[in-house]
Amino acid sequence: MSRRGKGPRPLLYDYDEVKGRALFMDNRRKVVITGLGKGSVEGFVKSESRKGKYHRTTIRLDRNRIAGGTCTCESVSFYGEPCKHMLKLRNSAVWIGIA
Ligand SMILES: [Zn+2]
Repeated sequence: MSRRGKGPRPLLYDYDEVKGRALFMDNRRKVVITGLGKGSVEGFVKSESRKGKYHRTTIRLDRNRIAGGTCTCESVSFYGEPCKHMLKLRNSAVWIGIA
């Protein structure tokens, strides 16, 4: 299963694209929440491997558990969900009491 040269490339966003849409952002700017719905959270989560870049991540929650979601990182296409970005988004939402 080679994806070199084909398949979708990861979609990455710069902080400048992200900050204006933030409803919540942690002090270290690692998780930016941009939207909240009934049982859903959407936002951007900072990449660990690409300095200053963010993945677009959405999750559906069922009693604080991840019931589904999307992320623009490679991990989802390789291994399925949830990826670490979904987990971080969930943790932030739970921590600030909006999930
Ligand atoms: Zn991800």
